[in-house]
Amino acid sequence: MDKFLRIQELADQRGLFFPSAEIHSPPSGFWDFGHLGAVSRRKIIDLWRKEVVRKTDSLEIEGCLILPKKNFEASGHLKGFVDPLIQCKKCHKIFRADKLIEEKTKKSIPEALDISEFNKLVKKFEIRCPECKGGFSSVKKFNMMIGVSIGPLSKELNAYLRPETCQNIFTAFQKIYKTSRVSLPLGISQVGRAFRNEISPRQGLIRTREFTQLETEVFFNPKKINDLPEFDKYKNMKLRLKLLGKEKTEPFTPERAVKKKIISGKLIGYYLAITQQFFEKCGFPPKDIRFRELEDKAKAFYSKETWDFEVKTSVGWLELVACNYRTDFDLSSHSKVSGTDLSVVENDEKFIPHVFELSMGLDRIFYAVLENSLTERKGKPVLKFPRNLTPLDVIILPLVRKDGIGKKAREIHEMLKTKFETKYDEKQSIGKRYVIYDQLGVPLAITIDYDSLKKQDATLRDRDSMKQIRVKIKDLETKISDFFEGKKIF
Ligand SMILES: [Zn+2]
Repeated sequence: MDKFLRIQELADQRGLFFPSAEIHSPPSGFWDFGHLGAVSRRKIIDLWRKEVVRKTDSLEIEGCLILPKKNFEASGHLKGFVDPLIQCKKCHKIFRADKLIEEKTKKSIPEALDISEFNKLVKKFEIRCPECKGGFSSVKKFNMMIGVSIGPLSKELNAYLRPETCQNIFTAFQKIYKTSRVSLPLGISQVGRAFRNEISPRQGLIRTREFTQLETEVFFNPKKINDLPEFDKYKNMKLRLKLLGKEKTEPFTPERAVKKKIISGKLIGYYLAITQQFFEKCGFPPKDIRFRELEDKAKAFYSKETWDFEVKTSVGWLELVACNYRTDFDLSSHSKVSGTDLSVVENDEKFIPHVFELSMGLDRIFYAVLENSLTERKGKPVLKFPRNLTPLDVIILPLVRKDGIGKKAREIHEMLKTKFETKYDEKQSIGKRYVIYDQLGVPLAITIDYDSLKKQDATLRDRDSMKQIRVKIKDLETKISDFFEGKKIF
């Protein structure tokens, strides 16, 4: 079975994630996360807060999910946030024209092509309905925002669910800049949900209609793009860049990339380094990650420079982060449409700040972490989460329930449960329980047996080596802390 299906199956079996409102046959592209899925995602967010937000002194905000129509006039979404839609004349199923052409030609098709170009390609490559082989009607542009109507008297869509979390950051920029006693460059971050009415999402967590983004927008004076002392700490790191027209990914230090004008300045080099470091800490091996330089026609229209951060998976290179140099596009157009001047004055210079963006998709990151953790043991799938992202740190297993062994195990669970992510499980045989928690990648198991009652100790078992040691109950907390700090205890 391929890895993608294996993960879907494991997720369903163990409740990591599953279709939202499943009992009501819902539309596709909406997912709920069970306890273990939710904890692992929270750990990814915590790591992002530490490695990206706090490391770069970024300010984190929390904005609304519903934004007024005017916001999307300014951002260009009302006009331009469209996908090319195509409908089968025979079975009436709907597809994305660009995806069907890509499947047939194995080449990437920019979604921003205009309708006549799409129609030409559909004809040229004789694209037929994948379901019934029927012919297609002509391509239409379909706006992917989900509209809502606010207020009891409103008869039309006067607001939209945000299609990206960065919009609040642009509209809040001035307030945050003025109230936070900071100067540029200033990063503003946000984690939250966003919504896109995808035409036919079929790829699990990879393309969904409701999703979570981890975004950072960095506001800066374009004349000072190379004025960043923090850069020096990262200038010798090996960034993995896949340049336009090159087959291979090459290591570039940020310093060399700036010097050779491969990237527009030190500020961008610094944030690319921060991004790569975050993903290394998520456990991805360097050979499986890269920043891919985008050609002009594949870039968003507002972007001067775009790098897609990608991870190699069984479904191909998967984009996890869009790194966009958005110039002054956002603040200028919000200024124009709102009539509010969003320029700043620093050192007697008045200007509209430029923006560099790191836009990460949590759902895809979570999927990629799962796939990167997937291995096999005796023919069975096993998730080997990196220690820092595991949903359960320690599982506590009494050998049997009777003779006071269950009671002792519960005491240990009580003692540890606010210090680590722990769980107590007494159901089924000990062998079956080991298999289940190995499959979920729980790094440590504590087993309580008859000897434990006599000697006040427990067996601590390492998932990876399957080694076991006996530890006094009073020393368990210290031993487990040592383990998660990376010390050798087995
Ligand atoms: Zn059809």
